[in-house]
Amino acid sequence: MRTTILGYPRIGPNRELKFATEDYWAGRIDAAALEKAGTDLRSSVWTELRDAGLDTIPSNTFSFYDQVLDTSVMIDAVPERYRHLDGLDRYFAMARGVQDVPALEMTKWFDTNYHYIVPELGPDTRFRLDRNAKPLAEYREAQALGIETRPVLVGPLTYLLLAKPSTPGFRTLDLLDGLVEAYAELLERLAGAGAEWVQIDEPALAADRTGEEIAALGRVYTRLGELPSRPRILLATYFGAVGADALRALAGTRVEAVGLDLVAGPGNVDALASIGGMPRKTVVAGVVDGRNVWRADEAAAKSAYAVLLGLADQVVVSTSCSLLHVPIDLDAETSLEPAVRERLAFARQKVAEVVAIGRALRERHPAAGVPVPSAVVDGGVRARLEALADARRGDRAARFAAQRDALKLPDLATTTIGSFPQTPEIRKARADRRAGRITEDAYTAAMRDEVARVVALQEEIGLDVLVHGEPERNDMVQYFAEQLDGYAATELGWVQSYGSRYVRPPILHGDVTRPRPMTVEWAAYAQGLTERPVKGMLTGPVTMLAWSFVRDDQPLADTAAQVALALRDEIADLEAAGIRVVQVDEPALRELLPLREADHAAYLDWAVAAFRLSTSGAADTTQIHTHMCYSEFGEIIDAIGALDADVTSVEAARSNMELVGDLRAAGYGNGIGPGVYDIHSPRVPSAEEIEKNLRRALEAIEPAKLWVNPDCGLKTRAYPETEASLRHLVTAARRVREGLAG
Ligand code: GLN
Ligand code: ZN
Repeated sequence: MRTTILGYPRIGPNRELKFATEDYWAGRIDAAALEKAGTDLRSSVWTELRDAGLDTIPSNTFSFYDQVLDTSVMIDAVPERYRHLDGLDRYFAMARGVQDVPALEMTKWFDTNYHYIVPELGPDTRFRLDRNAKPLAEYREAQALGIETRPVLVGPLTYLLLAKPSTPGFRTLDLLDGLVEAYAELLERLAGAGAEWVQIDEPALAADRTGEEIAALGRVYTRLGELPSRPRILLATYFGAVGADALRALAGTRVEAVGLDLVAGPGNVDALASIGGMPRKTVVAGVVDGRNVWRADEAAAKSAYAVLLGLADQVVVSTSCSLLHVPIDLDAETSLEPAVRERLAFARQKVAEVVAIGRALRERHPAAGVPVPSAVVDGGVRARLEALADARRGDRAARFAAQRDALKLPDLATTTIGSFPQTPEIRKARADRRAGRITEDAYTAAMRDEVARVVALQEEIGLDVLVHGEPERNDMVQYFAEQLDGYAATELGWVQSYGSRYVRPPILHGDVTRPRPMTVEWAAYAQGLTERPVKGMLTGPVTMLAWSFVRDDQPLADTAAQVALALRDEIADLEAAGIRVVQVDEPALRELLPLREADHAAYLDWAVAAFRLSTSGAADTTQIHTHMCYSEFGEIIDAIGALDADVTSVEAARSNMELVGDLRAAGYGNGIGPGVYDIHSPRVPSAEEIEKNLRRALEAIEPAKLWVNPDCGLKTRAYPETEASLRHLVTAARRVREGLAG
């Protein structure tokens, strides 16, 4: 083995997987047709990888939904509530729920934007290997095509660490010994089928691990290593550096190869050196970035390879992680500027890079490949940023007083998070415009009508701070990316987010600047329709980075500052147009938190600085809001205070408002809008229940600082429930205000 990759996108170059699964769910095709779509996708990937010249090819990287869910099914970790179903019905019920049976939980796969289905395990869980275990079936399927593959498995340790206990207090890790026996049986059967290698993924090793967990790691791979009949094992780690303790534990086992991510975890080299290397093992060197879209730096890859050669028996050129996280084919893009395109590589191009680097090393090419051109630099932005270092707003009590006089809002002011329902008519207008069926003017007119309707509705319902409803936005990041210089969009750059939901992240490739105002016309138009304040809506710098592919030639902090500067200018223009309240959404603030605690402070420093840079140009009288879509603040609670927004709205409906007390206890003294109802469900909350939530919140905060709002934007909801819920919300706020007055 000289070259390989850790995994490949499963969705197909034209989203074939999405269309097939959705057709199946809608009853348009049967199970056999869906299976056939899967078979076709798998064989085309294997053939493509073989033809590209990779020495070994992964299999079992395909999935109809998610590889963690596949693992649960493979070892029969199926909760009782799905057992009356079988086959694909059971599988999709676990992923998506069916009438009366809710789905398993879904959450982010480490620090990526891919979501996995969380296993639910308890004291009664008994693992049993499926007779037709998927890795075995796929191995044989490829074998029948004449292609030898290396089945990829989610590692047992990672699987258990990602699982959720079905009963409180249960430790999923207690199931490890049973799970390892199921894996042992699988390895024996793979060997029986002829598999030469198996890849076992343990990305959990890139996060902080306890001594007990490291000991468990040693135990698992000692046991699997000692199996009399098994394929050779590649233990793959990715998403960061693995500690020396974990490497030492692995060095003591019979595992033949260890995969290290040298892109997200350059520290892996030192860690490996610190334990004296692995002189009898192969190191699979993840030198081609599997998470981002930039071309590999061949010279850097070769020098990493050279260092590793001194620390291992053999070194294999590979991707840093599975290519699942990048779009499939750069060649399918027709509208990228050449200067941007020549810096990019998608999955197909990355496979070619791995092969080329491997070949250059084998043939001992002294020179590096074609150097990657650098990004366009904008001197103006850089000079302005330097002058603005450590931007912050004035005294918060003075701001509070100034805004009270300027805005004259009641106690328990009511508002929403920004978007109103995206109706079929809105979606149709957008599609018609894209297809050229309606003119730009006709589209704008339709959106303006929608804004006028939404403003009138909010006035009639009696909300205090209004929004324009965001009908013109397809996506909260893409909308801004399309208007900023330094960003590019793709046509077919789809990446799986979860199940059949794929996203097309924009590419932040160069210095970011704002050629013209982005939201001012919409906000000013809405403000012209009402006396009440209309809230301007912007997406914050961290979120703009989190949901994009971001240039890797400078620190994220510098890139975030450039985005922040564009937002700062936008806020100034909004103020000049008469907007008195601006919300800067940061739903991704927590998501970018590094996997290791040691890296948290540095991240939060730049994240907070970027937010403050974007908002600190605002006048004291301008009220800055921010919004986050989660309630587990724990590690970022101090950072939320440091953002210093005048009002922070958060998800709280499901945590019963405790959060207000938590924020106050952490010293947060500004306004708080704990979401008083859950918008993720069509259920309409009663006024009484909202009132109860508000009274509970008032135990921890004064009425002038308590805001009343739903817990997120309303764009995925329909109008009937939205209207009813907002009416109850306003009624509840009024009742509580009256109670306070009396
Ligand atoms: N303003 C956005 C909206 O209402 C916020 C979305 C979000 O928090 N993800 O849709
Ligand atoms: Zn939200």
